[in-house]
Amino acid sequence: MIPADLISKKRDGHALTKDELTWFINDYLSGKVTEAQMTALLMAIFYTGMSEEETFALVDVMLNSGSTLDFSDSDAYVADKHSTGGIGDKVSLVLAPIMAAAGLMVPMIAGRGLGFTGGTIDKLETVPGFNTAPALETFKDWVNKNGCAIMAQSDQICLADKKIYALRDQTGTVPSVPLICGSIMSKKIAEGISGLVLDIKVGSGAFMKTMEQARDLGSWMKKIGTAFNIETDIIFTNMDQPLGRFAGLACEVQESVKALKGNGPKDLMEVTFELGAKLLVQTKLANHKDEAIQLQQSLIDSGKALVAFETMVDAQGGRLNELGSNAKPDHETVVHASEDGIIDWMDTETIGWALVDLGCGRKNPGDSLDNSAGIEFLKKVGKETRKGDPVYRVFNSDPGRLDSASSMLEETFSTGELSPDSVLILGDL
Ligand code: URA
Repeated sequence: MIPADLISKKRDGHALTKDELTWFINDYLSGKVTEAQMTALLMAIFYTGMSEEETFALVDVMLNSGSTLDFSDSDAYVADKHSTGGIGDKVSLVLAPIMAAAGLMVPMIAGRGLGFTGGTIDKLETVPGFNTAPALETFKDWVNKNGCAIMAQSDQICLADKKIYALRDQTGTVPSVPLICGSIMSKKIAEGISGLVLDIKVGSGAFMKTMEQARDLGSWMKKIGTAFNIETDIIFTNMDQPLGRFAGLACEVQESVKALKGNGPKDLMEVTFELGAKLLVQTKLANHKDEAIQLQQSLIDSGKALVAFETMVDAQGGRLNELGSNAKPDHETVVHASEDGIIDWMDTETIGWALVDLGCGRKNPGDSLDNSAGIEFLKKVGKETRKGDPVYRVFNSDPGRLDSASSMLEETFSTGELSPDSVLILGDL
């Protein structure tokens, strides 16, 4: 087969066969297909989409690019949660230990920053010593012993997603339904889970800007999950403004720890509990949503969820007590409101790009991140503000990047006379 021939076929809107996709991706992984050729294929898929047969073939090829985990010898309900990506979305860090404290096993394979969205792995790596790249057997031991563990795609598991994910991050090829399905579902199936809840983010800070796009993605992912015998629930949540009070790297881990201590922001806890409720009902630890929310709250109040988080971090070599001193920003500035009024809109995608600029994401492959970087949202949608009030506190350890990111942020909110209706949980599937 000839790479340019397959790229042209896809570019012209024809379906690739499973053999063609397998050949192309495997030759990419072995270095025979170049980064440029893979990028061209991703862009062709981005523009022309994929049929059902192709999408299933993509998931299969990506899944089979590495090993899979097997928890069939375990009595616990093995389940996971994944988000399509947002700004300030630290739900995985809070939810995994809550589920572990409830008795579930969560073998979470997560990603790094993708486009304008933040990555769970990048956030966790701000904890000094935290190992996100264990051998697969070690990862499985951690899950069996502690109830939850979080690792990145590796050479052993989800190799195709490891490489293609990093390439999509750099090439503007993220918001594609089949590519998101291939990426997320290959990771989740490889985990050997029985239950899954997916948080599909919708709005200005999400890859799916409309409910229609989100529903389309949701129905594909549910179909794939079901075909692989995974009980799959889907929740749509609003990403028209950042989630929680902080977005960035170490500051999001710190906010997650606060949440596990019972001091989490309301929106973060609402999304976390809504997603957790789906898994607790799936495994019949709760009969309905309200009971599941109460159970999660009690696991926080009793300190058990925090212990589960600390145990996970400790097992993975992390030194949580060093986080504060290790990721202290050297510089900070404030973005002010230029008018009186109620904040009625936030351009959350641009906030995400400003975070990349600050040092929370990669502009080019191999860029190093600034663990201390982030934004504190002092005011969000619906809050009254006066001209000159601080709206964002912006911090990092590189003054040049602080200035450019802050200029971007000045245009990312508007004020008006009315508070807009803002619904956080937009529905389910
Ligand atoms: N999260 C993933 O793991 N992959 C995507 O493509 C989008 C969000």
